Amino acid sequence: MKNKNVKNNVVVRFAPSPTGYLHIGGARTALFNYIFARQNNGKLILRIEDTDRERSTKEYEKSIVDTMDWLELDYDEIYRQSERTEIYKKYLKKMIDDGSAYVSKEKPEKGGGRDEVIRFKNPNKKVIFNDLITGDIEVDTTDLGDFVIAKDLETPIFHLTNVIDDHEMGVTHIIRGQDHISNTPRQVLIQEAIGAQRPVYAHIPLILAPDKSKLSKRHGAVNVVEYKNSGYLSDAIINFLAFLGWNPGDEREILTREELLKEFKMEKVQKGGAVFNIEKLNWFNKKYIQMLSDKKFEEFVNEFMPEEIKKFPDYNKKINKIIPIIKERIEKFVDIKDMHERGELKYFFEQPEYEIKSLMWRDEKNIQDTKKHLEKTLNLLEKMQDNNFNSVSIKDAIWNYASEKGRGNVLWPMRYALSGLEKSPDPFILAVLLGKEETSNRIKTAIKKIDLME
Ligand code: GLU
Repeated sequence: MKNKNVKNNVVVRFAPSPTGYLHIGGARTALFNYIFARQNNGKLILRIEDTDRERSTKEYEKSIVDTMDWLELDYDEIYRQSERTEIYKKYLKKMIDDGSAYVSKEKPEKGGGRDEVIRFKNPNKKVIFNDLITGDIEVDTTDLGDFVIAKDLETPIFHLTNVIDDHEMGVTHIIRGQDHISNTPRQVLIQEAIGAQRPVYAHIPLILAPDKSKLSKRHGAVNVVEYKNSGYLSDAIINFLAFLGWNPGDEREILTREELLKEFKMEKVQKGGAVFNIEKLNWFNKKYIQMLSDKKFEEFVNEFMPEEIKKFPDYNKKINKIIPIIKERIEKFVDIKDMHERGELKYFFEQPEYEIKSLMWRDEKNIQDTKKHLEKTLNLLEKMQDNNFNSVSIKDAIWNYASEKGRGNVLWPMRYALSGLEKSPDPFILAVLLGKEETSNRIKTAIKKIDLME
């Protein structure tokens, strides 16, 4: 006898149509299904709903499967509706035989079209279905008319294949977006006609843009693969997605996959729209980036580093020292490219170009004073032992002089001479990074530039 407490009969499915890449909403549906299956020791089926032959492509299918892999949303079985035509045909024939469907003569539209389709014989009744998230929903199906379920025996359409598969695959819970609520009454009618058990529904809230409009490209990328290509981490995306419509009920925001599996409760998913906020995703991603091992971080850096920087002969020698600076500044690895475009990487490898006047601190009146400070700084640095050239000692060496003459007046020109940028790490860190010799050379160059100006 079966032990009723063993909840191993849960079967859920994620059923994308391969008419586009996996988008944020689809990924969240996949995640909620995945979590629910794992929590209940159940089964997750990936079902490719490719009955729309014109719009479905193998390329999209592959991309969806790859993105599921990248997100580590493992599934137990995979099916393609295009390979199941015979099954649907069997049901269609039976439905036509028992009168729940019929072949309908149509007036073909101008310019072609069919003169025959298969329609569902609508019993015109009230359908009530319960939903774990939205509660009971009641619909009078009369308005739906005798809707089309197949173009012909070989060409069934979405509502029919969806219901037959859920039945054939023993799906117990249907977790999908609220945009499918309007499809449910038709699907319930078909279930009843084929004698299928009604699964439990959980229609999860739509993902909206911050202004509560429908999420679209205007609000940032919608396809998950674009996030992957921009150097977002799949763990960060998973954490972010889980919070689109759900939260653990306390202050925590960083939850690992294991924690999500423990904490997530389908009944606690909110009814109302979930707001997609790209800043929030970036925040999550930065957190997860900080948690990467040094080795992993470096792998990503090398993947996203522009060739122009990689080809400097001392790239490999210096990159480890630059990594902490990158780590502080990026939210996603593609930001490395932006750093490069702002010139924030190049100066580590070559003498930067800059306006001589920019060497002057904003309170400085006379460039000759700037020159004096640079000369003194150079002198102090050159007195330092080579093997003691670290940021603490460098700071010690210069600090008294800088405090006496004004920190901005002394440290700004030093930093500017080293980086040629308004914004960069502090001059002590830069000096260590560049090494004693290069640091001296760049300060000398700055002094020479001032001399040549006269
Ligand atoms: N194939 C449908 C879609 O891509 C999903 C249907 C369902 O989950 O029931 O939106």
